[in-house]
Amino acid sequence: MTDFPAHTLVNVPDHVFLKGRCQVIVRIDKTSPIKKITTHYKKRLHCFQASHEILKHTASLESLADYKIRITLKASGLAAITDHEELLRQTRPVFLVPLDKNTIKCINFATGLNFPVHIVAETSSDKNRVLKKVLEFYLHNPLLTVPIEPLHTLIQTTARGAGFNLWDTELENWKSDFFVSDRLRVSLSGRWLDQKKSYGDTTDTWKKITASKLYQHHANYKQNLFKQKSPCVFCPHLAPCGAYLRALKPDKPCEHWKETFKKLEAEGLKAKKLIKKYEAQETL
Ligand code: SF4
Repeated sequence: MTDFPAHTLVNVPDHVFLKGRCQVIVRIDKTSPIKKITTHYKKRLHCFQASHEILKHTASLESLADYKIRITLKASGLAAITDHEELLRQTRPVFLVPLDKNTIKCINFATGLNFPVHIVAETSSDKNRVLKKVLEFYLHNPLLTVPIEPLHTLIQTTARGAGFNLWDTELENWKSDFFVSDRLRVSLSGRWLDQKKSYGDTTDTWKKITASKLYQHHANYKQNLFKQKSPCVFCPHLAPCGAYLRALKPDKPCEHWKETFKKLEAEGLKAKKLIKKYEAQETL
């Protein structure tokens, strides 16, 4: 089995038990052996990941107390949050919300209960103006007490030089993030496997995985953008985006994200000026 090194974070299904020193995100459902998983991974367990169906199962939520869990949220899962709110508060949930017609409803609901949210960047399209509404909600809702990612990290990057881009926020940093499918294929993430692009499978050695064509493609992606004079090289938002949005489809519309980056950068700069101003006053 692939010996993923200590600096890696590997997203695995609940029937795969990786050895070694890597951290893991384990995909679970109501039938998953939670006790066996937590016993096997101990401190190597970064978090669980599940669909909103998990919210309907009291016993599953009880067994997840104290653990961080990423839950994909659709509008049909909102009632279950209300039903199990108390139990859910014993876990550390982050709701993953796709960009579609129900996004604002889901975000409003989850953040209204002070649960953090992460919108799924890859699910957006130009026809879909939802991103603009999400940004307005994030920037102008005075009642918001929890972060909406990846917007929060991207604005921090401008204001404080945190140095993250969409590859980091979407857990697709080629140096550290890996994904193992139910059929044991290894790739960067689910979206790459959906396109049948993989590094190999879990019977391959680490050396073979990192020598694979796809891994090398990811490792050299930025340099190749410049070599090939990709339009992304001339984009003013290359730093926060990293050409993530067009990595699978070079002609994918991204104008809506450009508008978002522009506003986030402007707000980030305002914050940066304020921080400097107050730091200067403190030293007087
Ligand atoms: S916003 Fe679009 S054009 Fe700009 S770097 Fe990202 S994918 Fe490329």
